[in-house]
Amino acid sequence: MGIIVQKFGGSSVATPENMRAVAKRIVKCKDDGNRVVVVVSAPGDETDELIDLAHKITDAPDEREMDVLLATGEQKSIALMAIALKSLGCDAISFTGPQVGIVTDDVHGKARIVKIGGEKIIKALNLDKVVIVAGFQGMDEDEDITTLGRGGSDLTAVAIASALSAKVCELYKDVDGILTTNPKVVPEARLIKNISYEEMLEMASAGAQVVNARSIEYAQRYDVPVRVRPTFNEGLGTMISMEAKEMEKLFVSGVTYSKDEAKVTVYGVPDKPGNAGAIFRTIADENINVDMIVQDVSEDGITNISFTVGTAELKKSLSAVEKVKSRLGVKNIMIDEGIAKVSVIGVGMRSHAGVAAMMFEALAERGINVEMISTSEIKISVVIDKAKTEDAVRSLHKKFNLDKV
Ligand code: ASP
Ligand code: MG
Repeated sequence: MGIIVQKFGGSSVATPENMRAVAKRIVKCKDDGNRVVVVVSAPGDETDELIDLAHKITDAPDEREMDVLLATGEQKSIALMAIALKSLGCDAISFTGPQVGIVTDDVHGKARIVKIGGEKIIKALNLDKVVIVAGFQGMDEDEDITTLGRGGSDLTAVAIASALSAKVCELYKDVDGILTTNPKVVPEARLIKNISYEEMLEMASAGAQVVNARSIEYAQRYDVPVRVRPTFNEGLGTMISMEAKEMEKLFVSGVTYSKDEAKVTVYGVPDKPGNAGAIFRTIADENINVDMIVQDVSEDGITNISFTVGTAELKKSLSAVEKVKSRLGVKNIMIDEGIAKVSVIGVGMRSHAGVAAMMFEALAERGINVEMISTSEIKISVVIDKAKTEDAVRSLHKKFNLDKV
C-alpha cells in the first residue's frame, strides 16, 4: 500500500468544524486504500499571536525560547486532529517533530533539516494508524526544539514524504492551487494545473505565498511530487513536479510580488576590492539572506551599494553594516521601507527574447519607475514604489495575456 502525506495549513485547522471536515477527508483517503501521514500547522493565526505575545514582553525575545513557544501551536493541532479522527472511529496517533526524529541544525527560527528518522511513523502505519505529525518543528543535536521558518510545515510534509518515499505529498490550502497571480489583486487570475519545481521555486521566492519556498527546494532536490490542493472543495489543484510541458508555450507563467522587503543603501563606499565582500560578509554572518544587489557606477573611486532584505531582518542588517562602516570609510547608510518587488516568472523566457522589454514597457505605460532590477534565467524582478504594487501586477498580468490562456 502506498503512502500519501497530506498537509493541512492553519486555516484548515482553525476551528473545530474545519478540523472535523478535514478529519473526514483523511478518513476517506485511508478508506481508498492508502497509508496516510498527516502534517498540520498551528490553528489559524496562532503563530502570529504567539509572536505578538512574546514581543509584548520584550522587543528582542530569546531565539531558543521563541522556538519552544512557537512549537506549541502545532502541538495543539496534532492532538486535536487525532481526537477528531478517533471520534470518527479511525485509529490515529499524534507525534511532535522531535518525537519522529526530525533533526535540524541549531539556527533557531529558521533551522534546516539534517536528518529524518521515519521508524516511529512506519511502526504506527504498520499498526493501521493514521499518523499525525506536527509541522514546522524539529530538534537540534542538543535536543533543543527548533522551528523551520514561517510556513515551515510544508517543508516538514515534503521532507517526510521524501523520507518515506510517499507517492505524493499533498499540501491542502485555503486556495484552489497555484494561480497566475494573487486573485485578490487580479480577479481574472487562472489556476495553473502543472508547474515545474523550478518555476514554483522562483514564484515562491518572489513572493507567492501559497507554498513555502524551502519546501519546493527540498522537493526538487529529492524529486518529491507535490500537489497543492484546496481543503474545502474537491478541486485537483496544481501538480508541482520535474517537468511541466504545458507551460513552455507561454513567455510568462505568473506574476508575483512581495511587500516584505526593504532597501538598504550604503553611500560612499570606496570602490576597491574587498569592500563589497566586507559588507556582505558581515550580513551573512548574521544569517541574513540578501535578495537584490545593485552597485552604482563609481565616481572618483567612490560608489554606492544598495541591497534588499526581508523587512523582518532590516534592523539586524543595519546594525551589521554599522559594524564595518568606519573601517571601510563608508559615508552613510539609508533605508527605504516603501518598496515592493514585482516579478514575472516563466520557463518560456529561455526561448523567447524581449520579456524584459515588454515588462518595462508595461510598467512605463502606468508611469511606474523601476528602481532595481534582477534577473535569472526564468525570472525578472523589479523593485518599485510599494504604493504602485497592485497597479504593476495588474498591468503585467494583462501584458503577458495571463488572463486569456
Ligand atoms: N505555524 C507556522 C507558521 O505560521 C508554520 C506553518 O504554518 O507552516 O509559519
Ligand atoms: Mg540549541
